[in-house]
Amino acid sequence: MDRVKQIASLEAETLNRLSNWGRYSTSDDPTRTGRVEFMRCDDMRTEVAMWRARETNRDLETTLMEVQLEVNIELAKLLSETIHPAFAGTNGVEIEEEDGHVCGICLQYMEKGEEARGMRVCGHVFHDYCIFEWVKRKPNCPLCRCPIHTNTEH
Ligand SMILES: [Zn+2]
Ligand SMILES: [Zn+2]
Repeated sequence: MDRVKQIASLEAETLNRLSNWGRYSTSDDPTRTGRVEFMRCDDMRTEVAMWRARETNRDLETTLMEVQLEVNIELAKLLSETIHPAFAGTNGVEIEEEDGHVCGICLQYMEKGEEARGMRVCGHVFHDYCIFEWVKRKPNCPLCRCPIHTNTEH
């Protein structure tokens, strides 16, 4: 794997870990751990840039910008592949009160304060964990079958 891709995947991994912190956390402070890992990525970028500046006889500032841009492009590619389709096709909805909303997947009432997501296309609302599981298997709305919009469709 080339160095730029390696840095990008390390950054993607760190971002992913930070956003799932609740699931993996020990007693560590996530922001501190994240900072340490991002600093490591910074060092790696500088290393690549220094090497490139030497090889091509250019100044470090230019090659550093170049490397940064390349890493960001790779990072964007990685993130667009890993983004969950349920995020791309739904909006977060807050259940205000128990007004008889029933989740169309588990058929349970949705309680006030529960995390829910509404489909962008049809507006149907489900528990977030229910729609996340559903979308893994079928890319459409469980109630009306309209397609969930994903960023892989174009
Ligand atoms: Zn549900
Ligand atoms: Zn629907």
